[in-house]
Formats: sequence, structure tokens, C-alpha cells
Amino acid sequence: MADGLRRITQRQAVLCALGVAFFASYVYGQQFGVEPARLELVKLADDLYVIYNEFIPGNTTALITSAGVILVDDKYAVDHANVMAQLSRITRQPVRYVINTHYHSDHSGGNQALQALGAQAVSSERARERMVANKQAGATDVTFTDRMHVRLGDKQIDLYYFGRAHTDGDIVAHFPQHRVLAAGDLFAYAGETLPPELIDYAGGGSAREWPATMDKAMALAFDRVVPGHGVVTGKPEMRRYRDNAQRLVTRVGEMVGQKRTRGEIEKMLRSDFGWPDLHVQSGLDGVIKEAQ
Ligand SMILES: [Zn+2]
Repeated sequence: MADGLRRITQRQAVLCALGVAFFASYVYGQQFGVEPARLELVKLADDLYVIYNEFIPGNTTALITSAGVILVDDKYAVDHANVMAQLSRITRQPVRYVINTHYHSDHSGGNQALQALGAQAVSSERARERMVANKQAGATDVTFTDRMHVRLGDKQIDLYYFGRAHTDGDIVAHFPQHRVLAAGDLFAYAGETLPPELIDYAGGGSAREWPATMDKAMALAFDRVVPGHGVVTGKPEMRRYRDNAQRLVTRVGEMVGQKRTRGEIEKMLRSDFGWPDLHVQSGLDGVIKEAQ
């Protein structure tokens, strides 16, 4: 294992569905979560914005209400000051809630600083258990198992847990008034390039259950989707990603049925699905085991 990867793994700093730029950055030795990312605002509506950066850390979605702000995901701790600076460009309201789509610190690293400002952090119960087990700062205050509705001002966000995928605690956040979904790391999108998915088996993830979990999320009424990483896009792109995940499961199942070796399956995942080292390390044994 490369030193850089070991460092990242030990800090559990990066375990997400990542694109080519991430891979290139990893190869060139950048350490994620140490330097703040360069952020920009993407406007979805007068009261709904994405605080975007390239690939790592995850996207932050901000809903502005007359009674405060609701954030979905808050990047790394080191990004907190810049997240607040971007928010100050669009509202003077305080952050009342931060929702974490899962436990990874590139989506929940800002919790501690936001809690100190009075925000309540919200996640699935499973995600909170993993935050506590990993001794992450800023474990969530409010948790749920299946669904939760958060109301603030005259607005509402609906949160759903639909099953295992990237981890066993992924939730999606639906903005029904805007027909927007914040998908967390159920989905990553980088233009025409579909980044490979990372299956965090150590975090309870499942390739086999991933497509069905995505199907349930896609049954919600939305036109635009904020992926965990990458640019805002639509349901057709999310469906393609889902179909790709299903193809992966089917292909591995066929190879396991043919008694192909671990090495052959690894080679196929690298060549046909673009898996980099981090994905192989995190997902190879798990995806084979699930196919048996
Ligand atoms: Zn993740």
C-alpha cells in the first residue's frame, strides 16, 4: 500500500465515489482534507444553492428559509470557513440544520464547527454509529431509521433511508417544492464520464443492493439531482449510473459462476469499470463475496 493511501485510509478521510480528477490528484500525492477546496456557488433557485467544488470534498446543498438555513453535507472541517463565506454571499440567516448523507468526513467534517454555531446535525442512525465508532468529531444530534421531515420557515426537506449502497447509512434529501434530489454518494457525476463507484464494505456498503436502493430514490419526484460529487444533472444520468452499477454486479456474478480467479475479476473491474487502486482495496473482496 502506498504511503499516501495508508495515511488517507488511517484518517478515513476519503472513501467516496470519485472521478478521474480525484485519481490524478491521488497519484500526484495530494492529501484531501488538509488544504481547503476552492468553492463556488451554483444557483438552482432563489432559495436553493449548491456550494460546489471539483470532485473532493462532496457537494453542499443550501436551502435558505425565513427562519434559517438547512445544509445537506458540509465538506471537510478545513472547508468550514469557506462554506460560511459562500453562504454569507446569499443570506444572513444562521445555519439551523446540517444533514449528513453518510458518515464520510468529506460530507460531515464541518459538523463540529456548525454545531458550535447552534446548528443541529442530522443523519441516519447507522451513519451516526459509524461516526462514533470512528471517533469523528461532530457526531450527529438527531437521527432516524427510515424517513424524516425537516420543516423550517415555510419550507420542508424530506429525508429517506432506502437501503445499503455506498455505505449502510446513506440517505437522500428531497426538496419537494423544487423537485430537486441531493443524492449523496449513491450517485457521482462528472459530465460524460461516469466515475467508478466506491463500495465501502467496511462501512456496510453493498454492490448487490446498490441498484435497488437507487431505484427507490429515483421513484421520488425530481427533475434535477445534486450528486455526492460532481455537477448537477438529471434523472436520465442517474439512471445510467444505476444501470452501470447493475452491470457490474451481473458481470462479477458471471465471473464468480465461471470460477474465475480474484486476479481476473480485479483486472476486469479495472479495465471495464475504471476501478483505481482505492476502489479495488475497498471493494474487491466484498463484491466477490456478495456474488458467491
Ligand atoms: Zn462517501
